[in-house]
Amino acid sequence: MKFFIDVILPIPLQKLFTYSITSAEADFLKTGMRVAVPFGKSKIYTGIVFNVHTEAPSAYEAKEIHQILDEVPVVNQIQLELWQWIAKYYMCTLGDVMRAALPGAFVLESETVVTKSSVKKLDESSLKDDEFLIYEALHHQSSLKIHDISGILDKKNVLPVIKRLIEKEAITVEEEVYEKYKPKLVRYVKLHANFSSEDALQDLLDKLSRAPKQRDVIMTLFSLSATTKKPVKVSDLSGESGASSQIIKTLIDKDILEDYFIQTDRVQYSGDENEASKTLNEHQEAALKAIKTAFNNNHVTLLHGVTSSGKTEIYVKLIEDVIQKGQQVLYLLPEIALTAQLVNRLQNYFGEKVAIFHSKYSAHERVEVWNNVLNNASKAQIVLGARSSIFLPFSDLGLIIVDEEHEQSFKQFDPAPRYHARDTAVVLASMHKANTLLGSATPSLESYFNAKQGKYGLVELMYRYNNVLMPDIELVDIKDKLKRKRMKGHFSDRLIEEMTEVLAEGQQIILFQNRRGFSPIVECNTCGHSPQCPNCDVSLTYHQYRNQLRCHYCGYNMAMLQDCMACGSPDLDNKGFGTEQIEEEVKILFPEAKVARMDLDTTRGKYGYEKIITALEQQEIDILVGTQMLTKGLDFRNVRLVGIMNADNMLNFPDFRAHERSFQLMVQVSGRAGRTEKRGKVLIQTYNPYHNILQQVSTNNYMEMFKEQMNDRYNFKYPPVYKQIKITLKHKDYNRVEAASIWFAKSLRQFFGEAVLGPESPPIARIRNQFHKNILVKIPKKQSLSKTKEAIIKINNSFLSIKDFRSVKVILNVDNF
Ligand code: ADP
Ligand code: ZN
Ligand code: ZN
Repeated sequence: MKFFIDVILPIPLQKLFTYSITSAEADFLKTGMRVAVPFGKSKIYTGIVFNVHTEAPSAYEAKEIHQILDEVPVVNQIQLELWQWIAKYYMCTLGDVMRAALPGAFVLESETVVTKSSVKKLDESSLKDDEFLIYEALHHQSSLKIHDISGILDKKNVLPVIKRLIEKEAITVEEEVYEKYKPKLVRYVKLHANFSSEDALQDLLDKLSRAPKQRDVIMTLFSLSATTKKPVKVSDLSGESGASSQIIKTLIDKDILEDYFIQTDRVQYSGDENEASKTLNEHQEAALKAIKTAFNNNHVTLLHGVTSSGKTEIYVKLIEDVIQKGQQVLYLLPEIALTAQLVNRLQNYFGEKVAIFHSKYSAHERVEVWNNVLNNASKAQIVLGARSSIFLPFSDLGLIIVDEEHEQSFKQFDPAPRYHARDTAVVLASMHKANTLLGSATPSLESYFNAKQGKYGLVELMYRYNNVLMPDIELVDIKDKLKRKRMKGHFSDRLIEEMTEVLAEGQQIILFQNRRGFSPIVECNTCGHSPQCPNCDVSLTYHQYRNQLRCHYCGYNMAMLQDCMACGSPDLDNKGFGTEQIEEEVKILFPEAKVARMDLDTTRGKYGYEKIITALEQQEIDILVGTQMLTKGLDFRNVRLVGIMNADNMLNFPDFRAHERSFQLMVQVSGRAGRTEKRGKVLIQTYNPYHNILQQVSTNNYMEMFKEQMNDRYNFKYPPVYKQIKITLKHKDYNRVEAASIWFAKSLRQFFGEAVLGPESPPIARIRNQFHKNILVKIPKKQSLSKTKEAIIKINNSFLSIKDFRSVKVILNVDNF
């Protein structure tokens, strides 16, 4: 009998690919293991075994696999089920999902890059001929791709050679490949087992009386282990005893001491004892009880709790219950809110049980968390992570918390899979028969709508912890202030007054401006020309700090102009303003104050964000100017005043969610003010103080915002009332993308009629030299979503078979908001 496996490959193939295997391999291989397989003429990929069977593919001759890469599955059955759900729901391939789901170090393929290891000097005579060839080649070339190596050795199956070279530490593969994944090792030392009896020990010490240095080392070892009651590191022993590593080595060679390793995780908790969780107040207690009751009827529940109501402490109680039962917890946060603050808070309660999964961590760290979760290790019983942590190999999940559930960053926009982590979390939890708690002070309309419809449970917590007052919100009419000449730059007299007072009391200020850079438009006063990005249809933003014009869409930049590119006039003007300009004005208005800025430009790098937060916490900053990064779940004791520099550009943003988002953003930023005894103050500068959303923000009236916005959504057939799929077509040739999108929309209309909108050029019609066209399909609740998708896929397949359109890129985005 012949045996085959179907394999998921990390490429956008619609179908699984079948390979032939031997019967011994068939006995060994299990779903979820990795195999190295050939693909096409010369490619190699790492694939995941989907199933083992005996049916030969009819369309092609199955190739043999190269190699089995695992002894046990690295992906479990529930994950594969989730992958399939994601692929189907978000209209992408299993390969797309696989690529997003697995840590990069798990996926070895022909494009993987190999470099010479810098770790140590190698004894070249230990290399076999083929190994030497590669090693030698890396002396002439700093890196090689795996398919280059195939060429050098003139054979296809090169992974075993690469594996051996990695094991000999001659080469490294893309941040060191999985096989050689190596936790950091610390060397410990203990007395050899030969001396465990008291007599033997006495003997030894007598013998060593003639070697006082060695005897000293032994005595130091005793005293160290007696005082710390912990394993003794070699480094501590030599440090404490002053003995050279040579003496310790001698003792080891003489079998008096024994050295050994304990694997320690790189992502490490260095705290002391765990704290007990806090006693909840009556409101929190009531909310906790209500959540538990809601879970009885409804596995998904929304906790709508105002800022600073103590939601986190409620999560902690729920987590305690779940880990007591030995189950796992996933605590999802928007990427940016994953701050040291929250991490510390949870680690104080749960110590080493908390693992953090973060895209900014190295491949090693991610593999470490992956393996701990896979093995249901107590070390990763609670995973705190951003959206991609829904892909971890949970085996027994009891609870998922989605904190700040309204946050847009839970949705992945590019590349596929274009999934929403909150919605996917709900599906994942149900596969584990676990509960999901969504938490927010400003729930998304879709979650609140789901709750109101009875689809989710709903618990509301309307009291701030310790009865801290909600901040006092004041709207400042800048049109009026301008008329009466009460503005200095972008600061109204009211804002300056309040800032002066707060600074005098030694407290802190946050200023919010939703744009980075200095000014988004540079305009010639003579001819009106403003410099545009050559690759995108947008104006370039002026960044004063680097004296550059930059495109925020493609990264294009050039030196700031001295005079107009069109007419040569030196009379250039800045329109609009960003964080940089605010920072500069603040420094002039308050020269004594310490000012910092937090936006994309200042927070790149692994700890960029944390450094600013810490500086603010430690009061090294008086005034922090920033973009919406400021809004995310931070808890600052000492911030008394929040200034929103201009509410209008958020409100006028061309998007059906602009009002909802503005409300959420402003309420969340306001929530940063006055979290302790003193009442916080929020000033919102606007040209339109009578805007409904601003009124609702200033009275913190979520319900009214919800009702009014839902009304619009009904009237204009937007989510959550209607479902929505966005189809984007891209091409560098405008005429082609236009013809293609007209064809696509026409075909869609034959199925869905009026529910199809477009094609339309988006506000920025060209990005990175690609013209975009959007088509929107609106789907009423009663229309089958899966049938709709089937129809779209059918149309897309016919589209792809038209020769003229083949080079047009089509992007399907389900729930594109
Ligand atoms: P939220 O997440 O709703 O914004 P937090 O959970 O961050 O609110 O709570 C706000 C502040 O109140 C935090 O500093 C927290 O430590 C404190 N707090 C909340 N609940 C309690 C409690 N039961 N006992 C003591 N302090 C609490
Ligand atoms: Zn000009
Ligand atoms: Zn650009």
